[in-house]
Amino acid sequence: MKTLISSFFQDVRLYRSLRFRIFLIVLLIGIIPVIIMRYMMVRGYESRAINQKISEVTNQSAIVAAHLARTDYFSDTSDIVINDELIQMSNLYDGRILVINDDFLIIKDTYGKSQGRYIVSSEVISCMNGSRNMSSRDEENRYLEITVPILDEKTGKVYGALVASASTDSIHDNEELLDRRARFIEVIIFIIVVMIATALSGTLLKPFDKVIKAVDSVKEGFDPGMESIEVPDYTETKDIMDAFHHLMSRMAEVDASREEFVANVSHELKTPLASMKVLSDSLIQSGDSVDAETYREFMQDIAAEVDRENKIINNLLSLVKLDGNKDTEIELEPHELSPMLQQLIKTLTPLAEKSGVELLYEEKLPVEADVDETKLSLAIMNLMENAIKYNKPGGWVKVTLDADLQFAVITVSDSGMGIPEESINKIYDRFYRVDKSHSREIGGTGLGLAITRNAILLHRGAIKAASIVGEGTTFTVKIPLRKDI
Ligand code: ADP
Repeated sequence: MKTLISSFFQDVRLYRSLRFRIFLIVLLIGIIPVIIMRYMMVRGYESRAINQKISEVTNQSAIVAAHLARTDYFSDTSDIVINDELIQMSNLYDGRILVINDDFLIIKDTYGKSQGRYIVSSEVISCMNGSRNMSSRDEENRYLEITVPILDEKTGKVYGALVASASTDSIHDNEELLDRRARFIEVIIFIIVVMIATALSGTLLKPFDKVIKAVDSVKEGFDPGMESIEVPDYTETKDIMDAFHHLMSRMAEVDASREEFVANVSHELKTPLASMKVLSDSLIQSGDSVDAETYREFMQDIAAEVDRENKIINNLLSLVKLDGNKDTEIELEPHELSPMLQQLIKTLTPLAEKSGVELLYEEKLPVEADVDETKLSLAIMNLMENAIKYNKPGGWVKVTLDADLQFAVITVSDSGMGIPEESINKIYDRFYRVDKSHSREIGGTGLGLAITRNAILLHRGAIKAASIVGEGTTFTVKIPLRKDI
């Protein structure tokens, strides 16, 4: 049973092979017409030979019947000339001839067996009544039977009928010979076709072997020289290789960006640690000479660095959670957006007051949308925090809520320092900051906008920034109103 199952799967595998299919197709295309041709040739010969024989025997019978009608054979069957003619004809066709009078009595049988008997076959009856020639064929016993009327040509009077049977043995023998020869040729063609099919299925698929080899070689480790492997034999193989190279270079890019990310993370995490180390070392070295005030100041700095470290780690965790891979859960539910934004304004008011920035809110339309409130709040909060952080005393931050037919539109504008044009596409990269030292000074981690963008993409939304250096920045966020559009 086990071998049966495994052989079945092996068969399926064989059937699924393109090489096998090409082999099979070439084989069928080569062999089926040959079989059909043989069949048609043999059949065609048979029907032609039979028809020819029928017409030959019918003509001959008609000639004999005409002789019979002209003599008084029906009253005297001893006419030697006629009897000779009948015997000759039956010998010629390797058959038998019956002469029947109009009472359906057999008056002559060249076999001599049935003389004096009656014959009432449908052929004889319809032949006598309709004065027509009749023919039938017995395929099994291999003979033809021709029935012709014996009639007076002038008056049309029917005297009787002549039944001639002729053997078809010679036709069948010829047919068998022909069939045997055709089969022999068929076998030769079959062998040639198998050879052609084997060769074709081999050569046609060779380029795919190259493709498989190239893909296989990656298993053993990525080889940069692989980039140059091209299989231009077919458009398909070329496309596969192009797609493959594209995939490989994407993988290399992902690899490089992961390495860069790890390097960045290590660097970012090390910076606060290095500061703490410097601060604590200098405290240790100074020994007892440090007064309590300086001590407290240093400890406060160390605590600030711990907070920073904590913030970076928390941001990294948020970023991983919002990474947009398929495990990221997002719960889209209908929410009024206005209360959510107002709550954010309330939360950030102390920070804005501390920075001397005015917070403004404008609701152009009340909007309800399918959102994950926690994730969207985090995204907008980051934008508002940046708008406050990268602002100037006496500046303003304005949040607006609007909607079009499909999207909720939230904008966060500020009167801050702005973002240079060459940086505007990079600000969403992890750890990217326009001014590294300034960002660090005001407690930035370089991860805020990366988190914001991920959260918005999870909502299948979009984010865009427009900025003029020295005048301010506007971030526009669009979120689909309904999750199923
Ligand atoms: P950070 O924690 O440094 O603020 P973000 O990812 O939130 O990191 O922002 C990336 C960089 O984009 C910031 O360092 C800052 O240079 C720039 N940026 C973001 N928002 C604004 C803004 N509203 N005005 C000016 N620059 C901004």
